Amino acid sequence: MVTHLKNEIRKQILAKRNALSKDEIEKLSDKILERLLSHPKFPEAKIVAFYMTKGSEVDTKKMIERAIKEGKQVLVPVTGQKIAFYKFQSFDDLVQGKFGIMEPKSKDTPFEQCPDIIIVPGVTFGLCMHRLGYGKGYYDRYLSDCKAFRIGICFDFQIIDKLPVHENDQRMNCIITDKRTIQ
Ligand code: ADP
Ligand code: MG
Repeated sequence: MVTHLKNEIRKQILAKRNALSKDEIEKLSDKILERLLSHPKFPEAKIVAFYMTKGSEVDTKKMIERAIKEGKQVLVPVTGQKIAFYKFQSFDDLVQGKFGIMEPKSKDTPFEQCPDIIIVPGVTFGLCMHRLGYGKGYYDRYLSDCKAFRIGICFDFQIIDKLPVHENDQRMNCIITDKRTIQ
C-alpha cells in the first residue's frame, strides 16, 4: 500500500519536474545554490558529498565548482550494489555509470572519511523531513550508517506536506528549495 502510494507520488512529481526547461532548471538551481552558500554549516564543512545531476534534477555543477574553489574536498557517488563516495577530480574526468549517472573515471578506493555535509537528491521531500527517492533505497542504505549533516535539495514544487514512509526511510536535517530552507 505504502509502495503503491509512493509510486503515484513519484509519477506526479517527476512529470512536473521533467516539464521544466533548461533555463528554468538553471535559474531555480542558482537560487538553491545561494541558499546552500548561506547555510551556516557550509562555510565550516571540509568534506562535502554531492550527487551528479541527471535529467531534470537540481543542477549541482555550480555547487561543486564553488565548493572546490573554497578548498573543500568534494565527493560524488559511484553506484554499484550500493553507493560509495569517491573523490571528485574534475568535470573532464567523468564516465557514464549505472542508470546513466556520471561518475569519476579515475577511481581507486572509496573515500574512507564520513563527509561533513551530504547533499541528497530526491523525487519528493516531506515537511516531516522525510525523502522519496527513485525507489531503490540507495540513499536510505547509505545514510543509515552516515553521520554527515544531510541537506536535501529540490525544486519547491517537490515538497509535499506528508509523505508515506517505511521504517528504513531516512530523514534530512535540512531541505533547501528555490523558495525556502526547511529545518
Ligand atoms: P527510495 O528511498 O529510493 O525512494 P524506497 O524507500 O521505496 O526507495 O526503498 C526501496 C527498497 O529499498 C525498499 O524495499 C526498502 O525496504 C529497501 N531499503 C531501504 N533502506 C534499506 C535498508 N537500510 N536496508 C535494507 N533495505 C532497505
Ligand atoms: Mg526510501
